[in-house]
Amino acid sequence: MFPTFTLRYARLPDRFFVRFDPVPVEAPRLLAFNRPLAEELGFDLDAFDEQKATEALAGNVVPQGAEPLAQAYAGHQFGHFNPRLGDGRAVLLGEVTDREGRLRDLQLKGAGCTPFSRGADGRAPLGPVLREYLVSEAMHVLGIPTTRALAAVSTGERVFRRVPEPGAVLTRVASSHLRVGTFQYFAARGDKEAIRLLADLAIERHHPHLAALPPETRYLSLVEAVQAGQARLVAGWMGLGFIHGVMNTDNASIAGETIDYGPCAFMEAFDPEQVFSSIDEGGRYAYRNQPWIAQWNLARFAETLIPLIDDDADRAVERATAVIQAYPAQYEAEWLAVMRKKLGLAGEEEGDRELVEAFLEAQKAGRADFTLAFRTLADAVESGAGRGEGEGALLGLFESREVIEAWLPRWRTRLAREEASPTTIAARLRATNPLYIPRNQRVEEALAAAAEGDLAPFETLAEVLAHPFEAQPGREAYARPAPAGEAVFRTFC
Ligand code: AMP
Ligand code: MG
Ligand code: MG
Repeated sequence: MFPTFTLRYARLPDRFFVRFDPVPVEAPRLLAFNRPLAEELGFDLDAFDEQKATEALAGNVVPQGAEPLAQAYAGHQFGHFNPRLGDGRAVLLGEVTDREGRLRDLQLKGAGCTPFSRGADGRAPLGPVLREYLVSEAMHVLGIPTTRALAAVSTGERVFRRVPEPGAVLTRVASSHLRVGTFQYFAARGDKEAIRLLADLAIERHHPHLAALPPETRYLSLVEAVQAGQARLVAGWMGLGFIHGVMNTDNASIAGETIDYGPCAFMEAFDPEQVFSSIDEGGRYAYRNQPWIAQWNLARFAETLIPLIDDDADRAVERATAVIQAYPAQYEAEWLAVMRKKLGLAGEEEGDRELVEAFLEAQKAGRADFTLAFRTLADAVESGAGRGEGEGALLGLFESREVIEAWLPRWRTRLAREEASPTTIAARLRATNPLYIPRNQRVEEALAAAAEGDLAPFETLAEVLAHPFEAQPGREAYARPAPAGEAVFRTFC
């Protein structure tokens, strides 16, 4: 059933990983299997045998051709460098070639204690596995680069966190699991040869056109390419109100994908200071800090490549610094492109940034739900054409309305200069601003039911999130923020 494995990473020198077979689990049960993704990855679904698939996805049987391993990496965790993290509970089976000819990693997360476990149990609780499944698939449909979820299997074993919970294994698919922290692991050891191998692997997998450049420009161009990916990624997060929660350098993907869904969450009432993670006491990874943390992580990445960028170390630092310093402007441009679209603007005008900022100010002043504030702009546009619910749906989201009422005419004046009818703009807005996002309360509800053996809420939520831009009759409740007093403000990994 599994496609052929490539073993690109497994063929790197021994010091890049530890060979490690997943530790079998007691009573695996398949909870979710992502058929469309399996097809995309070249799985033979005609030969799908649920029992065999379950054994393999639980790690009880190693699929033919796989050479499971735990990857070595380091990382800055909340700003503090740890020279040896590595996959403490994840096992890479190998890479497969997808329908587009791209290599994709298959990894089992929660597969047992590896030599990198550092005293932890090597396992994953059911709740976080299902959260990653739901949220990563939702992010994909919302157009954000992300690792994907192929399967979730329960283990029949218990794991102990704050309370005992059922255990589970997630099959994660990534364009690669190369992280800023992978480079840092070797930089901390002064292993220039390993850095070169990693950089060439990153180029081969993510930016193959750079391979033709001479070494003097190749590696600095890799920094630029990774930087462009991060700027785009974080701008996408900001446009959805997504808060990653743990932007440590070991969770910064060289492929530019969202990776490691721990205490992540979507904001409801707009608040730039919002933090959900119980472990982020200082608010380091708050919503509004995310773009600048990404830049900090990129600087750590560039540092590891200094020996490859230029034989003259001072000149290498100077050249790398110039690249990193270009990030704010790049990020701002990505962000503005995302936000213009969210306001229904296809053209570009001087005052657009201020217009966006003023809308966010209005949301903040009125404690409006971020997702619905953008979504209901479509209704407000249609009211200009004498159709739809008008401004009522938008205004109803605001606790105080002065700021939003002052903003609406500004936006309408700007929209009037767009060369498109209200109907066209409304359709554009509805295709950009989702009605359904994985709201914390809904996600928590689904996870709690699953822990009691009821998967129905998880499955329904997954169905709703598969079509985030279309109104789904009878599912209005999934679009609404949590009622006052019931909002979830703390998430745990
Ligand atoms: P994270 O905060 O999820 O990015 O994880 C940081 C490090 O902790 C990584 O090296 C993980 O592999 C490791 N880790 C997280 N949870 C566990 C666990 N239950 N058992 C072993 N290692 C873990
Ligand atoms: Mg991690
Ligand atoms: Mg994690």
